[in-house]
Amino acid sequence: MDRKQFVKSMALLPLLGFSMTLKDLNKMTSSMNSTGKMPVLFLGHGSPMNAIEENEFVASFRQLGKELIRPNAILCISAHWETNGTYVTAMQNPRTIHDFGGFPQALFDVQYPAPGSPELAKETKHIINSTHVGFDDKWGLDHGAWSVIKHLYPNADIPVIQMSIDYTKPSKYHYELAKEINSLRHKGVLIIGSGNMVHNLRKVEWNRLNEEFGYSWTIEANEKMKRFILNGDHQSLIDYKSQGKAFDLAIPTPEHYMPLLYTLALKEENETIELFNDKPVGGALTMTSVKIG
Ligand code: ZN
Repeated sequence: MDRKQFVKSMALLPLLGFSMTLKDLNKMTSSMNSTGKMPVLFLGHGSPMNAIEENEFVASFRQLGKELIRPNAILCISAHWETNGTYVTAMQNPRTIHDFGGFPQALFDVQYPAPGSPELAKETKHIINSTHVGFDDKWGLDHGAWSVIKHLYPNADIPVIQMSIDYTKPSKYHYELAKEINSLRHKGVLIIGSGNMVHNLRKVEWNRLNEEFGYSWTIEANEKMKRFILNGDHQSLIDYKSQGKAFDLAIPTPEHYMPLLYTLALKEENETIELFNDKPVGGALTMTSVKIG
């Protein structure tokens, strides 16, 4: 190919890219419409070791994966991807990120080779109007995403994208932003918030992570959060900073709590709420998880 031909073919690329995008989107949308509305999840992911250990929490995730309608794709909001601005992963093949230290080699050896979905990334950007959504081609799947999704879909055959949490924004912003992606539920996309309702690593007793045990403030905050969730009192959960000492200790930093607000914001009227894995571990963590719809 000479230079002239090369320049000519480059000029055609944007056109080609655009027509392929439209075709792919239509294809995706038509197959999604056949599956009905997907539930929304908040999954308490806890220790990264849950990725490779067998326990009641991962058994519930596995069971859930069998019971749910098979999604066309997954969008995960993980506590472990915080950015300045909002991004979605847009690569074809997201890498498995081992974003932790001090764990056994077996955990670093885990790969979760689910494909990405540039189409879903485009659709997500398209439906969010309140802010600019950037495409990310460097992140991948962090352990907040893969350590739980691998139990739901062990074959890694469902495309997964992540949406980041803008750490410069307040809780109300995240709650409102989540509402903008509601239409994805109607297109066969399983939206998962992955974090922990009570998450205070400085107070965790690491040698008791496999034990059902919570401090009094852990239990108090967990019970209060559940009550707000079941009563539909989302405003009190958005105002988590005004809920007293137990909440202050349960949410010393917001990143593990914010994914819960994304999940709750996606609840539609008259949808059922199920709580599961509702247990404290290591004193200062709760595994409490939520299924809506
Ligand atoms: Zn975490």
